[in-house]
Amino acid sequence: MNSYDSDRLLESIKDTHEQVVSPEMADVIVFNTCHIREKAAEKIYSELGKIKKIKKINLDTKLIITGCVAQAEGRAMIKRQPIIDAVIGPQMYHKFKNVIDQLKHKKVMELDFQSNEKFKALQNKRSIFNRSAFVTIQEGCDKFCSFCVVPFTRGAESSRKVNDIYNEVEYLVENGCKEVVLLGQNVNAYHGLNYKNEEVNLARLISTIEKIEDLKRITYTTSHPNDMHEELIQLHGSSDKLNPYLHLPVQSGSDKILKLMNRKYNKKLYLQIIDKLRKKCPDIALSSDFIVGYPEETKKDFQETIKLIKEVEFAQAYSFKYSSRLGTKSSRNNSNNICDQEKNERLQKLQEILNHQQKSYNNKFLLKNLKVLVKGKAKKKNQYRGITKWMQVVNFEISREVNSFENIKIIKSSNNSLLGEVQ
Ligand code: SAH
Ligand code: SF4
Repeated sequence: MNSYDSDRLLESIKDTHEQVVSPEMADVIVFNTCHIREKAAEKIYSELGKIKKIKKINLDTKLIITGCVAQAEGRAMIKRQPIIDAVIGPQMYHKFKNVIDQLKHKKVMELDFQSNEKFKALQNKRSIFNRSAFVTIQEGCDKFCSFCVVPFTRGAESSRKVNDIYNEVEYLVENGCKEVVLLGQNVNAYHGLNYKNEEVNLARLISTIEKIEDLKRITYTTSHPNDMHEELIQLHGSSDKLNPYLHLPVQSGSDKILKLMNRKYNKKLYLQIIDKLRKKCPDIALSSDFIVGYPEETKKDFQETIKLIKEVEFAQAYSFKYSSRLGTKSSRNNSNNICDQEKNERLQKLQEILNHQQKSYNNKFLLKNLKVLVKGKAKKKNQYRGITKWMQVVNFEISREVNSFENIKIIKSSNNSLLGEVQ
């Protein structure tokens, strides 16, 4: 979502500003930050050291911090780092241009939660175009999982209107976009208003935007198991455009830990959802998030998570060491914290299994011909990078001009990507 927000911020000042290639050349430097885990949040402070040097030479350069670190630590941040000229929380981005104008005279803090105002101010006509585009449809969260800062930094759950999303996607597609990734912290809790002012769910929204002819692929992320409603599961079986991919974070396989986390589902329910999904869409690629070393997680609880992973077999997954976040319920639970070494060991064990699963999943695609959506140049010279509908990265070489979609024969597979030849 920060990637989407960064584009939106840039687009909102495109009449007066342009992007430069290095911070030394900039009048305004913006750090769009993430507060979800401690590591992400601390990164910003180490980066600020570099900016301090630039500001010493370029006296008029202004520094703005946006994103969830700004929201959570705004006031304290300016105290800790006086080189910061403004902090803007995620629900105040409609004020971005305004803030830049005010910076000549004073420091500015915009930390309110005006998501409706922000959504209203978003122009549906974008100016940054890619073949695959993020589109935020929902923001914030009311679930209050015990470990999570999102409800405090992104605010209450709110959904954009169907028409606004449709118009944004249509305009992107008119400008070459072939795939949209619908975004929300809790995306399948989407409940935006349609043109009749009736609330519609995510399945209905997807059914509406898939009518845009030249839009070929749709994905959504991130979902909560409890909002994985029947209509959405059905759609995975019936829609030609919905990618056979789902990121459905489970966090833990232990019912005790899930309860402590306030996730409001148990392992059985999660497995039932996976089962239903696989019945509707047998080739669905499943992804998840895991937290290891949650307070009170015993070795037995951890083994439950490993068991769940083995039962489901994920195509890919993200896993994290538990990180205590100020203001959350679990940050106040100091009773049975797991030491860092134990957390590291559990994470390593878990990742070994997940990596193995990802590799076996990718191996199944060897020698297959896949339709790949070309995203752009790859890191290696002469190579392009694309994505399958199961959301695997594919690298390939091509000596002619690339099309939006290329038929690629997979000749090598690894954990994180596939290598192919153009057919
Ligand atoms: N809304 C999604 C998750 C959004 S946060 C859901 O409900 O599943 C993205 C991921 O970051 C989470 O799934 C979780 O695995 C991880 N995460 C969030 N807070 C964390 C914390 N305090 N420590 C470690 N990982 C965390
Ligand atoms: Fe955070 Fe997701 Fe829980 Fe909401 S549902 S509080 S975003 S982990």
